[in-house]
Amino acid sequence: MPDQRVVVVGAGVAGLVSALELSHLGLNVTVIDRADAPGGKLHAETVDGHAIDSGPTVFTMRWVFDELMHSLDLRLDRELTLTPLSVLARHFWTDGSSLDLFADPLASESAVEAFAGADEALRFRQFCDHTRELYGVMDSSFIRSQLKNLPGFMAALGPRGLSLLARMGPMKTLWSSLEQRFTDPRLRQLFARYATYCGSSPLQAPATLSLIAQVEMDGVWTVEGGMQELIRCLTRLCKEQGVRFICPAHCDQILVRDGRVVGVSLDTQEQLLADRVVFNGDTAALREGLLGKPAQRAVASAAPQRSLSAVTWCIRTPTRGLRLDRHNLFFQSNYADEFHDIFEHQRLPRRPTVYLCAQDRPSAQADIGAERLLCLVNAPANGDVSELSEQALSDCESQVLSAVKHCGLDFELTPHNHVRNTPRHFHRRFPGTGGALYGQATHGWMSIFSRPGAISPIPGLFLSGGSVHPGPGVPMAAMSGRLAAAAVRASLGSIKSSPVGATSGGMSTP
Ligand SMILES: Cc1cc2nc3c(=O)[nH]c(=O)nc-3n(C[C@H](O)[C@H](O)[C@H](O)COP(=O)(O)OP(=O)(O)OC[C@H]3O[C@@H](n4cnc5c(N)ncnc54)[C@H](O)[C@@H]3O)c2cc1C
Repeated sequence: MPDQRVVVVGAGVAGLVSALELSHLGLNVTVIDRADAPGGKLHAETVDGHAIDSGPTVFTMRWVFDELMHSLDLRLDRELTLTPLSVLARHFWTDGSSLDLFADPLASESAVEAFAGADEALRFRQFCDHTRELYGVMDSSFIRSQLKNLPGFMAALGPRGLSLLARMGPMKTLWSSLEQRFTDPRLRQLFARYATYCGSSPLQAPATLSLIAQVEMDGVWTVEGGMQELIRCLTRLCKEQGVRFICPAHCDQILVRDGRVVGVSLDTQEQLLADRVVFNGDTAALREGLLGKPAQRAVASAAPQRSLSAVTWCIRTPTRGLRLDRHNLFFQSNYADEFHDIFEHQRLPRRPTVYLCAQDRPSAQADIGAERLLCLVNAPANGDVSELSEQALSDCESQVLSAVKHCGLDFELTPHNHVRNTPRHFHRRFPGTGGALYGQATHGWMSIFSRPGAISPIPGLFLSGGSVHPGPGVPMAAMSGRLAAAAVRASLGSIKSSPVGATSGGMSTP
């Protein structure tokens, strides 16, 4: 098996997970990434000498990483220090109200009762029962298994799953299902926001995405040292198993000969021979031909709707007025407008929902002084076609500061206390995306089947990452990395001989 060479293009979480599992099998694995260091969207900005996570901050579904470590005869809690949060998220509205959701479901129910009354608390309990059942059904039939077509999915659901979906009304949107479940518009807004975890609009996302609420209610953890520590851990384990890293190295072609993948070429002209390639970039780049013409047929030619992008600010500043927790949401009125602005008008929302991750909390003291914040608002993924004007960005900043101020929070954005990222920045880092951070939007009931799976139609080419089944988010991308590794493993029996020879001079074997 060591003679089997695998090149993983992209050191995002999925690429690293694939590399780890494949090297554990004894394969000869090389990971290349066009960035200076592994991590992809798990990234940090340095402000005033302090590292601030600028990508994912909400760590959920730890079981994905527990199971990954178990499969490598390791234990997650020996590799990383994870601390469960008792407050999952703190939500504020501009009318002055606020609601905490807790890891303890009974505490959440009491909080909802105090916030919106006993009837709404009962509806909340029923909603939780529903999302728990849904998550249980989708876990085995969808999340853990290779992509299936609709009939295969129905068969995997079994009678219990089918009856649950029938009761939900499979064609319903998340928004319309929440209109039936809750009478308080603030609770609809809160639970509708979970569609944005897949970069989607709740107005168009299927009601099945309500399971994301359950994902969060199952637990949110902090990673000591920041989310970057997860990447450092995966990279270290890869290296301990002999994985070779080449960063920065931009792959400009996936080499295909006689219909089969034979390696990759870099923009330095160097070529790396391989029996298998796992592509961890966004599959939109394949579609656009950025990995060469032959690799284009790895994905369907019709471009799906892009998911959300974002404008983010990594800030180091004192905050005043409100008791922040780790994860904080600031909602404004008329939530639907936000998604009309983004998806229909392709502009920044005029009244954005603001997410603020206070990265020194919850342990920070009240007199913390300057603290590390990631502030995020959703944005359209059009970073390849238009640059946001300074005026639009400055209006957006004023909106953000005014929204949080209405809720009671004050902080400053000065030219020197933050680093800002826009869809254009994300597009430059993630080619082919326009800055979309979650692959294609999950809009419409069938969209969950239209993501590419791990096994591409080109023999020897496998796909992993947030644009691939089962979807975006750190744990889901990690799961896709596992599924890609499983598909490579399954394909090994079918190899007769390694590709030989060079397509054009200067090939090196990784
Ligand atoms: C601001 C932000 C907030 C988020 N919040 C959360 C959150 O709270 N919780 C959560 O679970 N998820 C969150 N996400 C989503 C999550 O980060 C992603 O879904 C996940 O990290 C994607 O991982 P991936 O494996 O697809 O790889 P990516 O992170 O997309 O990395 C792909 C890698 O491939 C490399 N690459 C691409 N093309 C090439 C090429 N041609 N040659 C060489 N290298 C190439 C890129 O440089 C990159 O390093 C957030 C994302 C962002 C950006």
